[in-house]
Amino acid sequence: MQYRVGYDNGPLKLSDLHIDFSHMGGKMCYDLQYEIPDIKCQVCGRNSMCLIQYVSQKSSDSLHRIVYVFLCNSAHYRDSIRVLTYNKNIIVPEKDTSVSITAPTWEEDIDMNNLLGMTAQMQTAAPAPAPNVFKQNTPLDPIEFKVRKQNTCLEPHDIFTENTESKMNDFFQGAVDVIMDGENTKFTDVLLTQFNGACFIAGYDRNPLSFQKCISKLFKGQFEEDKYKLNRNFEEAEEAEEIEVINDNGPDVSIDDKCDCKFCKEFHQKYVHEMDLFSTMIWVLKMDQSEESAEFKAIYVFGSRNLENGIHEGCAVAMDDDEDVKELLKELKKKKEKEEAKNQKASEI
Ligand SMILES: [Zn+2]
Ligand SMILES: [Zn+2]
Repeated sequence: MQYRVGYDNGPLKLSDLHIDFSHMGGKMCYDLQYEIPDIKCQVCGRNSMCLIQYVSQKSSDSLHRIVYVFLCNSAHYRDSIRVLTYNKNIIVPEKDTSVSITAPTWEEDIDMNNLLGMTAQMQTAAPAPAPNVFKQNTPLDPIEFKVRKQNTCLEPHDIFTENTESKMNDFFQGAVDVIMDGENTKFTDVLLTQFNGACFIAGYDRNPLSFQKCISKLFKGQFEEDKYKLNRNFEEAEEAEEIEVINDNGPDVSIDDKCDCKFCKEFHQKYVHEMDLFSTMIWVLKMDQSEESAEFKAIYVFGSRNLENGIHEGCAVAMDDDEDVKELLKELKKKKEKEEAKNQKASEI
C-alpha cells in the first residue's frame, strides 16, 4: 500500500456529494442501511462538522471503505474529533466467460474501410446472450445513501490524489534540500514544504507522518519533532539574509519502523493508520473565519482495523498549530496597537 498525497480540487455543490467518492468539508454521505451514531461535540453539544470523507486505500472491487473525520470548528476541537469507518463488502458477480468475441488479428496494410467493415462484423457476429449470462452481467447495485442532516457545514471541496512513494522515500532518506527560516524548523514543516499545498497524506497501515513512532507517546502529546534537527548542517543562503538552506542528511528513522511496545502492539491490532490531515485544510475550508476555530498543524487519523460490514469507531491524535496561533495573535496585537496610536494622533490633531 503506497502513500498518496491529496490536494484540493476546487469547490463542489452539496448536490454533487456521493458515497462513492471522497470530499473535504461538506456533509457525510452514509449508507441508508446503517444508523449513524450521534456526532455531537462533547464540549458544546453542537453538531460536529465533517472535515473529510475519504475513500480508503483499502477499498477494492469487493470492499467499499470510507473514513470520515468530524470535529467541532472551535478552540476545543481536540476534544471533539471523531473518526468513523464504514465498510461494505460487495459480492462481485462472476465474470462471464461463456461468450467470447475473438478479436481480429490486424494485417499490416489494413485500410480504414476494411477496419470499419470488421467492426460491423464483430457486432453482428456476437451471439445474443443466454438468459443466465444476462443475469450474471448485471452491474453492481449502487449503494443507497443519504446525506447527513446538519444546519451548517464547511464548504465542500473535491479532492485529487497522486502517488508519492518515491518522494516519500527520498524524504525519509534525507535526499531533500529544504529552505526554511530559523532553527526551529520542525518535521511537519519540512514535510509540508516538500508537499506544497497538500491537504493530507494517506498511507494505509503505514506510519503516521510524525517523528514519534510510539502511538502511546503521540497520544500523550509527545511529538518529539526536535529530533529532526540532529543530522543537519546549516549553510547560509547567499541572497536571503534570514533564510537558511538546510542540507538534511536524513533522520534516523526508516519509513516503516513501528514501535513494538505493548501499547502499540495492541493499538495496531485494533486500529490502522489511514491518513494525516494538515493545516492546509483549514485554509481551503475557510475554517479560520470564526472567532474561535480549530488550529491544528496535523491530525493523525486511525480507522478501525475491522473490515466487517457497518460503521466502526476509529481514533485520532491532533497536533496544535500553537506557533502560528501565537504569531497571529502577536501580529493582531501589533496591528491593534498601531491603530490605537494612529487614532490617538488623529484625536490630538
Ligand atoms: Zn464544540
Ligand atoms: Zn509504543
